[in-house]
Amino acid sequence: MTTSASRSAPLLPPGSTIGILGGGQLGRMTALAAAQLGYRVHIFCQHDDEPAAQVAAAVTCAAFDDEAALAAFAAAVDVVTYEFENIPLAPVTFLAARVPVRPGAHILETGQDRLREKAFFNGIGIATAPWRAVHSLADLEAAVADLGRPAVLKTARMGYDGKGQVKVDAGCDLAAAWASLKTDAAILEGFVDFEREISVIVARGLDGHVAPYDPVENVHVHHILDTTIAPAPITGPRGRKTLVDAVAVARKAAEALELVGLLAVEMFVTRDGHVLVNEMAPRPHNSGHWTMDACLTGQFEQLVRAVCGLPLGSPLRRCDCRMKNLIGDDVALWQGAMSDATAHVHLYGKAETRPGRKMGHINYLLPLSDDGHHG
Ligand code: AMP
Repeated sequence: MTTSASRSAPLLPPGSTIGILGGGQLGRMTALAAAQLGYRVHIFCQHDDEPAAQVAAAVTCAAFDDEAALAAFAAAVDVVTYEFENIPLAPVTFLAARVPVRPGAHILETGQDRLREKAFFNGIGIATAPWRAVHSLADLEAAVADLGRPAVLKTARMGYDGKGQVKVDAGCDLAAAWASLKTDAAILEGFVDFEREISVIVARGLDGHVAPYDPVENVHVHHILDTTIAPAPITGPRGRKTLVDAVAVARKAAEALELVGLLAVEMFVTRDGHVLVNEMAPRPHNSGHWTMDACLTGQFEQLVRAVCGLPLGSPLRRCDCRMKNLIGDDVALWQGAMSDATAHVHLYGKAETRPGRKMGHINYLLPLSDDGHHG
């Protein structure tokens, strides 16, 4: 596979401009890390008060189908990356014809569609929950007959934080479940009775060097990430194998995709210690926020290094960490954390607190538990 990334000039020196599609907190923290290395960041988003726009050197506020704005943005930046994966593909391919887009558009396309994503992982020999494509009620009935109940029905596209999902349990009416998704492309997945949920974030540089972070455990509340425990507290010889397998999965995916940038791979750990991939995101990830304060190189700096063609930094963990997301009213926790010497507070500059809205996070640093880097 030849990507625009692998064809282009290798190194963008400090002083270059990184274009970021999207104006949320992931773009904000990337812009801050970029500024620290002397790069300029130009955000393409909808409103000039979005979290990333507040800290960027330049902002374009335009719709993703505004080709004049996209062309001007392409002319103003040296490389483009993105901070959320539900961007329409058309503007990304439009930009990729003019300027390197990293990670490449083909990775975004795979990550945007749960059917493509599962087929990709299975195609490179990586296990997922059993799944079937569902394009009609008849497909759903056949898939449920095949996989059994319970199962999980998800829209193939545009789902996140548990949105666009229905659990198909014993009492579930299939016609109602299908109608509720309001889509013509979905996936039915066998229900995984998992022991825990983990993720691995891996960086891959323009030179092909791969740098994985330690696997972490993610605890969700109401389908939204609440806490990340780094490293994942999986111990014993079997646990060690689980962790090694998890890192190998993320590395293999990054290499198969010819990633330049970051890839977050979310996985289930089954009760017998196997890993099954749930989904991936080719961008900084909420479950990697702990790396900002607890690793030699945080995920945002690592993304900047990768997309600019610099050598990757070390992903080594220098201490353990518990990352607490500040969701909605949790934001009030910031004040107490200011007088806790172990706490690093990160707030995203969002004016309005709403239930379910990610307002910030706190990294609580803990003593280093072992040398357990599994990369
Ligand atoms: P997703 O949007 O795919 O990340 O799913 C959101 C959450 O739903 C996951 O973090 C799991 O807690 C749960 N979930 C998703 N798929 C499955 C599955 N196949 N089996 C069991 N739980 C699932």
